[in-house]
Amino acid sequence: MSQSTLLSSPIEYLKGVGPLRADMLKKELNLYTFGDLLNHFPHRHIDKTQVLEIAKITPDQDFVQVKGVLMGMDTLGEKRSKRLVSQLRDQTGQIELAWFQGINWVQKQLMEGQTYIVFGRVSFFNGRAQIVHPEIEPYVAATAGQKSVLEPVYPSTEKLKSRGLNGKQIGKLTQALFMQISERDLPENLPASILKDQLSRWEAYRQIHFPTSQVLYKKALKRLVFEELFIAQVRLNLVKIDRHKNSRGHKFEVVGDYFNNFYNHHLPFELTGAQKRVIKEIRQDTARGYQMNRLLQGDVGSGKTMIALLSMLIAADNGYQSCMMAPTEILAQQHYAGLSELLKDMPIEVALLTGSTKTAERRRILQGLLDDTIHFVVGTHAIIEEVVQFKNLGLAVIDEQHRFGVAQRAQLWKKASIPPHVLVMTATPIPRTLAMTAFGDLDYSVMDELPPGRQPIKTVHRFETARANVMDFVKTEIQKGRQAYFVYPLIEESEKLSFEDLMQGYEQVKSYFPEPTYKISMVHGRQKNIEKETNMQRFVSGDTQILVGTTVIEVGVNVPNASVMVIESSEKFGLSQLHQLRGRVGRGSEQSYCILLSSVKASREARERLKIMCDHTDGFIIAEKDLEIRGPGDIDGTRQSGALNFKLANIINDRQTLIEAKEIATVICEKDPNLSSPENAPLKAYLLSQKSKIGWGKIA
Ligand code: ADP
Ligand code: MG
Repeated sequence: MSQSTLLSSPIEYLKGVGPLRADMLKKELNLYTFGDLLNHFPHRHIDKTQVLEIAKITPDQDFVQVKGVLMGMDTLGEKRSKRLVSQLRDQTGQIELAWFQGINWVQKQLMEGQTYIVFGRVSFFNGRAQIVHPEIEPYVAATAGQKSVLEPVYPSTEKLKSRGLNGKQIGKLTQALFMQISERDLPENLPASILKDQLSRWEAYRQIHFPTSQVLYKKALKRLVFEELFIAQVRLNLVKIDRHKNSRGHKFEVVGDYFNNFYNHHLPFELTGAQKRVIKEIRQDTARGYQMNRLLQGDVGSGKTMIALLSMLIAADNGYQSCMMAPTEILAQQHYAGLSELLKDMPIEVALLTGSTKTAERRRILQGLLDDTIHFVVGTHAIIEEVVQFKNLGLAVIDEQHRFGVAQRAQLWKKASIPPHVLVMTATPIPRTLAMTAFGDLDYSVMDELPPGRQPIKTVHRFETARANVMDFVKTEIQKGRQAYFVYPLIEESEKLSFEDLMQGYEQVKSYFPEPTYKISMVHGRQKNIEKETNMQRFVSGDTQILVGTTVIEVGVNVPNASVMVIESSEKFGLSQLHQLRGRVGRGSEQSYCILLSSVKASREARERLKIMCDHTDGFIIAEKDLEIRGPGDIDGTRQSGALNFKLANIINDRQTLIEAKEIATVICEKDPNLSSPENAPLKAYLLSQKSKIGWGKIA
């Protein structure tokens, strides 16, 4: 059973298309074949029985469908504000219709005195209801015996509309298509056991285009959304299974003296449940002989560094070296200092390699890595430079993944004939549903638990008008010996504006906290690296009490004595960024505070975001809310893999279906990784038929 040849027929062979229209369908909507058209789904259906009386239109309606007689048309305004305006009247009232583009063409299409059915988004202008650029077509009463009461309307473009292919006219093509194809062309692709009471594939396709009732339309949508998510999950699972089977990796067979000695005698605290679970996952993964490629997500402060260290000790127990990369020099130094301290009584050699490592030291480290006298090397991207060669690199830990590109990671593979295990750690929580689709082919661990005894950071939202109070509060904290951050947004459109804002802010902070009683560090993007590092370092060492900066301070810095984070113009930040920034405080035993300053003019959406920050400290919940507000396209840290480009499914609204699809797909793939059972034959046939589209080559 291969992909129906009929469905792969070029679109120009469809009745009513021809070469000219085919060209436009390809250019405008990416529709090349019969199959593409079949998968171009209607975005709505016209139900002629669902017409609203014009008098019943209110401001809280979004889209409406009305029917009425078109009154005279007028062109108003000049040049840019030129518009075509008309009124549609029914027995109860009238509504204004307006067009700003394609005026001449629209005017030619429409006829005064004719009855039209009109659909569009209602807006109110000077208290009067109006629809701008409505979908409009002559009203034809349903004829007796007509089957579908729901007529499909398809996504179209202005260009296509002006060439006789508007949303409804595309429906004519789809109709022609269904005259040519039959059930044979759309064979079932889901195993019978999971199909249960779902519509068959053929029925679902017919009903989603030409539903015979609302109920059946919903069933069709449900089935096709499930199918889309399920197939994607099966693919991800197969890719993962294949990688596990075919990628050679170092086998970490034992947990030995290094690990046990450290665990029993030098571990400064009891591991959290989440830490224990994750280290177990890593142990199992690295013992199998295939390469681990694991993403570890853990909220700020959940203790990821300890996971890195324990994993590196397992590598050492098996005779392998490890490296740990951080995105900035400061972070690398902090990791190095932390690891050295923890390992000071252990026979483990740790080195720090960054851009500013002196030549002699550098030479010593390169030699040490080559002859295996150095076990762990911590550093910045300096460690992936070509001159850095290891005797036997077994594990690479990458902290704060989103600052490391794919190309840079690929550099790692070149360092040994067998690639090292990779552990990528990130503190940017990604909602579970998003992670499932974006990272479904990776090994994936979550740490959703903080070490005990942390005091939640108190977060408040204040308007700028209350700045004097805020400053007084910061002063009392500093007088107690604490330190404070003041963060200003990077204004993307203008670096100059950001800089001016920051400088103004700096002067303002200085006027509240005058030298020499108070000392202030400042960091920003215009500084040379060395200057930035020096200023940061002064704050880290407690030499300055206040750090004023842009978001360059966002990632990973650890100053436990800092207890206040003031975020200026906080309405300009995204939620996950606010969460990251807030994570810079609350790292010691003292109560910490985050103060979100905003203009009184902040939008309603911005205030909603700030309220979420005040109400929640769990990064995963915040990420979930962020996803709801912004949609999946904008979330940091997700790969542009196309994994999120679903035609029908929406990972926010269809969350439940996604979780269900994933569970079922995982079970099926684990039980039958080659999909060779009779039950899975339809699924395998379908995946093979799609082979040319997506790389099954990697799988089979
Ligand atoms: P992150 O996950 O943000 O990288 P870190 O690894 O920097 O977090 O850990 C934050 C702090 O929590 C560190 O001071 C670390 O020593 C401490 N910590 C980590 N794990 C535990 C634990 N199980 N119990 C108590 N403190 C812990
Ligand atoms: Mg960290």
